[in-house]
Amino acid sequence: MRAILLGPPGAGKGTQAKLIQERFRVPHISTGDLLRDAIRRQTELGRAAKQFMDRGELVPDPLVVDMITERVREPDCQGGFVLDGFPRTVAQADAFERMLAGRKLHVDHVLSLSVPREELIRRLSGRRTCRGCGALFHVVFDPPQQPGRCDRCQSELYQRDDDREETIRARLDVYERQTAPLLDYYRARGLLRSIDGVGGAAAVNARLLAQLDGWS
Ligand code: AMP
Repeated sequence: MRAILLGPPGAGKGTQAKLIQERFRVPHISTGDLLRDAIRRQTELGRAAKQFMDRGELVPDPLVVDMITERVREPDCQGGFVLDGFPRTVAQADAFERMLAGRKLHVDHVLSLSVPREELIRRLSGRRTCRGCGALFHVVFDPPQQPGRCDRCQSELYQRDDDREETIRARLDVYERQTAPLLDYYRARGLLRSIDGVGGAAAVNARLLAQLDGWS
């Protein structure tokens, strides 16, 4: 299965991508995670990306397209993948489609999660991420048993720099301007399925799987 999860920041793409990964045994590829990893490792890509990410802006298309092209060529992607956070512009979607077509492949599903803006701000401003395993928590909706510690691996939880309120608003604006046009792009290709992203992860996952009914 080659699937794309679309939706604004905070819509639950990461959470749902992890569930798809478990259910369909395809790797979950998050361009945000790959970029944050590049920043931690202080690579050339990481240094170039950081300035954009800190402002809540998109990293330039060529950098992200090269990064994802390299990633999906890895052996674990042979049976497919679920993308979270890519593509984010029509130019990225075009480049990705061309790259796959060159290998006689195509995207099977584009799943779009929709959540109202005020709910996205509530979710993102309370979001905490585990430094060790990447697990996600929320200070109100899904608090860890011990404040500041991951339930799974006991590592420290942190707030992403771009999950602060001012940057959140900038990221939501960027989504509306640059990423939302992808809904029409994939609708025109007959690939888009829209899912109501409001509610708990399990409820949203049930809706999402219903859209994939019959796919194994
Ligand atoms: P995310 O973890 O998906 O919310 O992404 C965090 C940040 O990484 C975004 O605000 C962008 O600055 C950058 N980023 C992630 N994916 C992309 C992409 N496909 N294109 C450009 N920038 C991206």
